[in-house]
Amino acid sequence: MHHQLNLSDINQLITCPLCQGYIIDATTISECLHAFCKSCIVKFLESNFHCPVCKSIIHSAEPTRYLLHDPSLQDIVYKLVPDLYRNECKRVQIFCEENEIEISSQDTLPLLSPMDLPKL
Ligand SMILES: [Zn+2]
Ligand SMILES: [Zn+2]
Repeated sequence: MHHQLNLSDINQLITCPLCQGYIIDATTISECLHAFCKSCIVKFLESNFHCPVCKSIIHSAEPTRYLLHDPSLQDIVYKLVPDLYRNECKRVQIFCEENEIEISSQDTLPLLSPMDLPKL
C-alpha cells in the first residue's frame, strides 16, 4: 500500500519542533504521539510538563515514562537523510576545490547510497 505524501508533509514528520533539525533518536510522547529528538524532549521536560506542540499535560512526577522510542520514525529519517548527506558531500567538495585541497585519488567525491551509511 502506498501513501501519498508530499515533501512538506515528510519534512514536518521528520523535523523536531524543538530544534528544527532532523529528528535524532526519535522519541514520541505516548499521550499525543508528537515526535522529537530524545535529547530535545528530555531536556524540555526537565522544566516543563506538557507537550511542546499540543500542550498535552504530561505527568510531572515521571515525565520520561510518557516517552516512547520510535524506531520506525527514525528509520524514515535515515532513509531520507542520505539526500542531506549528499548535499553535505557537495558542499565539502566545493569547499575543497575553492581551497585547493585534494580529495584522495578520486575525481569526484563518492556519493554514498543508503546502504553505505553507517549503522546506528
Ligand atoms: Zn530536536
Ligand atoms: Zn503533543
